Amino acid sequence: MVKQRARVEQLPTYIQGKSIPGAIKLSSNENPYAPLESVAQVVRDQAASIQLYPDMGAVAVRARIAARFDVRPEEIAVGAGSVEVASQLISASAGDGDEVIFAWRSFEAYPILVQIAGATPIAVPLTADDRHDLPAMAAAITERTRLVLVCNPNNPTGAGVTTAELDEFMRAVPSDVLVVVDEAYVHFNNDEHSADGLDFFRRYDNVAVLHTFSKAFGLAGLRIGYAIAREQVADNLRKVAVPFGVSALAQQAAIASLDAEAELDARVQVLVAERARMSEELRRLGWAVRDSLGNFVWLGTGDRTGEIDATLREHGVIARAYGTDGIRVSVGSPEMNDRFLAAIAAVVPVSAQ
Ligand SMILES: *Cc1c(COP(=O)(O)O)cnc(C)c1O
Repeated sequence: MVKQRARVEQLPTYIQGKSIPGAIKLSSNENPYAPLESVAQVVRDQAASIQLYPDMGAVAVRARIAARFDVRPEEIAVGAGSVEVASQLISASAGDGDEVIFAWRSFEAYPILVQIAGATPIAVPLTADDRHDLPAMAAAITERTRLVLVCNPNNPTGAGVTTAELDEFMRAVPSDVLVVVDEAYVHFNNDEHSADGLDFFRRYDNVAVLHTFSKAFGLAGLRIGYAIAREQVADNLRKVAVPFGVSALAQQAAIASLDAEAELDARVQVLVAERARMSEELRRLGWAVRDSLGNFVWLGTGDRTGEIDATLREHGVIARAYGTDGIRVSVGSPEMNDRFLAAIAAVVPVSAQ
């Protein structure tokens, strides 16, 4: 046996949402729509040059993103999906002996990425109503804290963080600790009270925002996401990034997607309406479902998680089960959502406790 880092040997493996032939996959928060023709054309054109390395500086796409948000290109750092950018942020901020705080349950990649960096994950339990407990997260900050991840809205519970809550939190965070607002689902977030990451980036020097093209823009398979961060931080992200990690196909498709943002947003609004339809139908069936701000709904199934997940599967619906916490169901096309609603109707609901 060769020597490997013990902390890597002990790491859990990131589990992808399952797919089963014939079943519908609502387990990975993927966009159910096929790519826009304008985006697909750009990818086909770019395919003629795949013998070449991509632009490592991602100059054109960073300029396009910067223009979209009225920030400087130096303040944009890209990666192979925002998961890679989250990894860059963690590696640039924290190493051995340092602590990274995040809510739990939240995005499964967080504890894995923190441990790969050699830092210590500090998971702060969500409140009883599945929201970030920001006062508890502020209280968890120590001299060793280097980074705090705030997932807004939270994957998998769908709960948001309000502007007032995040402002109060920021006042408690030392100015040399970076706060990353992960906005993977920002396009689906229609809560006017929700904290706007970009607004916080502008008002606080120690805030960075994470965005992805995977969810609302439907480019999960191409792998591109980015951080908006102060130049000092963004420069460091570029240093720790995997060289040539973002393909030219992804860079060009991201530009084409921003050019078609209005068209893509119309699709997002259909998904938002479907989310409301699913939540209302679930409540009608007797489920205690809270409003979700992402492209998914959360069922707090507790001890019955395994049993209910199995029933959904028997009905050809693959959702994402989380231990004994709950089940996350992605919002798919209306037809897929109908299949889910038919399947869940066969389950005795878990109502409010
Ligand atoms: C899906 C997701 C991401 C990003 O995914 P990429 O495909 O790597 O961009 C980041 N954060 C959260 C919370 C997510 O759910």
